[in-house]
Amino acid sequence: MRRQNVLGLSRSDLENYFEAGGEKRFRATQLMLWLYHKLVLDFDRMTNIAASLRQVMADELGVELPEVLTVLESEDGTVKWLMQAQSGDTIETVLIPDGRRQTLCISSQVGCVLDCTFCATGKQGFNGNLGADEIVGQVLQACLWMKKNRPSERLSNVVFMGMGEPLLNFDATFKAIDVLKDDLGFGLSRRRVTVSTAGVVPGIESMCGLTTVALAVSLHAPNDEIRSELVPLNRRYPIESVMNACRAYLASQDVKATITFEYTLIENVNDSPTLAIDLAKLLKDFRCKVNLIPFNPFPGSTYKRPDDSRIYGFHKKLMDNGVRAMRRTTRGADIDAACGQLVGRVNDRTRRVARYREGMNTIYTPVEKIPASTVLN
Ligand code: SAH
Repeated sequence: MRRQNVLGLSRSDLENYFEAGGEKRFRATQLMLWLYHKLVLDFDRMTNIAASLRQVMADELGVELPEVLTVLESEDGTVKWLMQAQSGDTIETVLIPDGRRQTLCISSQVGCVLDCTFCATGKQGFNGNLGADEIVGQVLQACLWMKKNRPSERLSNVVFMGMGEPLLNFDATFKAIDVLKDDLGFGLSRRRVTVSTAGVVPGIESMCGLTTVALAVSLHAPNDEIRSELVPLNRRYPIESVMNACRAYLASQDVKATITFEYTLIENVNDSPTLAIDLAKLLKDFRCKVNLIPFNPFPGSTYKRPDDSRIYGFHKKLMDNGVRAMRRTTRGADIDAACGQLVGRVNDRTRRVARYREGMNTIYTPVEKIPASTVLN
């Protein structure tokens, strides 16, 4: 029998596992406290669990973490890990300290099918989904590192803004979120876990009633013409359908919930004052805030980051028109850890085209032709 990785199991999965073996459901509590509160991964050290049961667990379960290949620390305190998934491919995870906040930016897929024109991850193509265990494993690795290297800090937020589109890996993402939010897991409150999507409308709709995590939507333009150029998925799910799904999500939440719209500012593409006014009109009466992210360049990209006065001008126009907006500072640029710079490394390229198609088909029927450059290189 193949051993199951405990990190991919929620509290109720573990309770069911123990119950099926004739054990008390409470064993799940004990196990999770060791794993996620004490960061003890070795069954032998879980001394409040009987040795005989520990042996059964060792036979049937495993605790497998993605292997850390490299850790880079930026001058500004940002940390980037290159980790190896079970497939052999590598993924990146980033810790961003900001005052008292310690935000971990995690990956949900190896590569990405969406191929947004300004994002380095899309350029490497798509090589598969991560399992819930590999998503949880990134967080656990980061916590283990913090315990050793920054013992006074504690993880406070997790954002699905690393590699991949979390809503195209829906089940694994929300299974992992169960563990992130669980008091026996990482104990992060609902507003401290953010799922960021390029606008996968059926995914947002499926979130309604299922979850209360914070939602961020990568908008990048107030009209379909520009947005379709930047985010090809917009041809399938135009702005109006995305906004309707966002409205439905807000309606499913308590009145304090807001949505974050991310807007990557690219010189002479989406950074004009007129577009800021259009954006303000689009977001009028919406409980939201806008996160402005100056474009982070990567090799091979022809886009440019607007100069500071242009960014400031866009920001001010939005605020003058009644929109709450924040300018996100670029973090970890010296270690290529900023938004859109995460690439990892793909090892097995043999099944890439097939996997790409599978990825495209998971939640919506592809209407785009598959960009050959991303699949075949
Ligand atoms: N697929 C998800 C999450 C990953 S991207 C999504 O699209 O939301 C996380 C954020 O980084 C998104 O808002 C994305 O648009 C932004 N981003 C990607 N590449 C970027 C770049 N080169 N410069 C600045 N922001 C970028």
